[in-house]
Amino acid sequence: MSDDPIWITCICGRRIGTVPADTTDWSTPDYCNDCAARYPAALLKAAQDPFSYALGLVTGEVFWFQEATLNGEWVHLSGVDPEGALLDRDRARSDALPLPPFIRGVDVRTSAIAWCADAPYGS
Ligand SMILES: [Zn+2]
Repeated sequence: MSDDPIWITCICGRRIGTVPADTTDWSTPDYCNDCAARYPAALLKAAQDPFSYALGLVTGEVFWFQEATLNGEWVHLSGVDPEGALLDRDRARSDALPLPPFIRGVDVRTSAIAWCADAPYGS
């Protein structure tokens, strides 16, 4: 086993530092300051730790999803719950058509995100 330090690489590909090869403390964020300023913390976590997340768009849609892939101005949401992709205003209308189930995920422009949450119903 090598004693070389382990490089920590941000999701954007930028190397941001090293930790000792024998570290057991992985609490240091593994994203750079630029990404921390650009993306919500819960979205950064979703890009590194698939679990249960939700985000809302400025237009009212809410997505429950499991994983995010960040790419500049866009984020791809995977594991989208089709029941979550409804406009709040449409929930009260019986004749409203829901958005599609997004089986292969959905791409969202990050500037359209109003909020993002990690484990919105707890863990
Ligand atoms: Zn970065």
